[in-house]
Amino acid sequence: MYLMSFRNLITLLPVLLLFGCFLSLNTVSQFSTDWLNTTTVALPLLSFAAALLLSLQFNRSRLSYALLFIGFNALLLLADDLPASLPGLRAALSQISSDQRLNLQLLFSLNLFIFSGFKDRGFFSIHSIIRLSFLALQLAALSLLPLPLIENTLAPLAANLPTSISQSHLFQQTPLILLASFTLMLCLQSLSLVIRKSSLDITFIALHCILISFHMRPDSGIFIPLLMIVAAIIIISSILMDSHAMAYRDELTGLPSRRALTQLQLSLGRKYTIAMLDIDFFKKFNDTHGHDIGDEVLKMVASQIGKVGGGGRAFRYGGEEFTVVFPGKDPEHALEHCEALRENIQNYAMALRTPQRPQKSIKNRPNNAKRSKNTRKMQSLSVTISIGLAQRDGTLKTPVQVMKGADQALYRAKKKCRNCVMT
Ligand code: GH3
Ligand code: MG
Ligand code: MG
Repeated sequence: MYLMSFRNLITLLPVLLLFGCFLSLNTVSQFSTDWLNTTTVALPLLSFAAALLLSLQFNRSRLSYALLFIGFNALLLLADDLPASLPGLRAALSQISSDQRLNLQLLFSLNLFIFSGFKDRGFFSIHSIIRLSFLALQLAALSLLPLPLIENTLAPLAANLPTSISQSHLFQQTPLILLASFTLMLCLQSLSLVIRKSSLDITFIALHCILISFHMRPDSGIFIPLLMIVAAIIIISSILMDSHAMAYRDELTGLPSRRALTQLQLSLGRKYTIAMLDIDFFKKFNDTHGHDIGDEVLKMVASQIGKVGGGGRAFRYGGEEFTVVFPGKDPEHALEHCEALRENIQNYAMALRTPQRPQKSIKNRPNNAKRSKNTRKMQSLSVTISIGLAQRDGTLKTPVQVMKGADQALYRAKKKCRNCVMT
């Protein structure tokens, strides 16, 4: 109930932002000499609040945590430069010793990477208690580290770096252990991008860069607040782009969804050809091999359809049906590329590890490990597709009519041949 009313707050976000702006404007006019300081604190805080609300609303707890790590990190660095109008915060931050500050910065750098690998399990949930305990444990472990000893060990390594790097502001002002952590986390995040190929890793790489950049010009009052605004914009755009992708991409196959097709239809010109594609005997395939293997085959077929040439744009229409739109192309051109696609799919042999039906009763089975070894074997599977084509002409005038025409051609293909293209 409480969470519901909190969620509704997001719809008021623009109003809240405006209200915050007016409040800060009021403060600005009261403390006109402190104008720059007040704005440089108010704007990053407002943009962080907006990004945090959005990440909570969209259940992106990883991004909520990233914001908190970066926000607290910035506050630690800004502690002495905070405006006099925030005496409480200034006093609280001055209680933190320089060693504790370094431990916290290490914690934020480390966990910006670690948390990117977690699942978005909701910020206001039991998982957050576990994650906060995990952070507290790490902080305790970090406080046991012999920091001066590690700094001394790293010093000779840093001495080997070119002077342009070792004499830079970043190197002069930042403890080596923190620089080592930044570098390692940035490398690990990049490795994660290579392995997972997730856009979230790109967001997190940018956020690691923000953390590093904080240390480049910490003495210039506007630099860190500016970077905080950039971090908030990165997170907001990441949330918006992922939501857009979720709405317009099919989750299973990664192809653009039917909603994206509807949008493309609105922008089509006077000449185009549409192909409707359908996997042959897929129901039987599912019945024989199971739904999971059916899904794997669907993904394989979708990836081939996604590679269609000739300027064709592929969509998952629904179930095991796909649509390819050829904007500005005639049916002869589309036919050539659809034929190539049909052949590619027919010739693609999928190697699948398929479970077989158990031969013994459960009681007689030696153990589970052995069972999975014994009852799985490699199998090569292939499927075919049928395709129907239609172009915009005097009778089929709208994209919906052309698609109907393509669907009728597909129906004829299913009746007459299967594994063929009909116009
Ligand atoms: P035809 O050659 O005439 O197209 O025969 P078909 O069996 O492919 O045609 P039908 O439309 O009767 O069956 C489509 C089947 O596709 C039904 C359903 O089991 C399967 N299917 C639809 N969506 C999915 C999916 O997301 N995953 C899996 N595994 N199967 C799906
Ligand atoms: Mg079908
Ligand atoms: Mg089918």
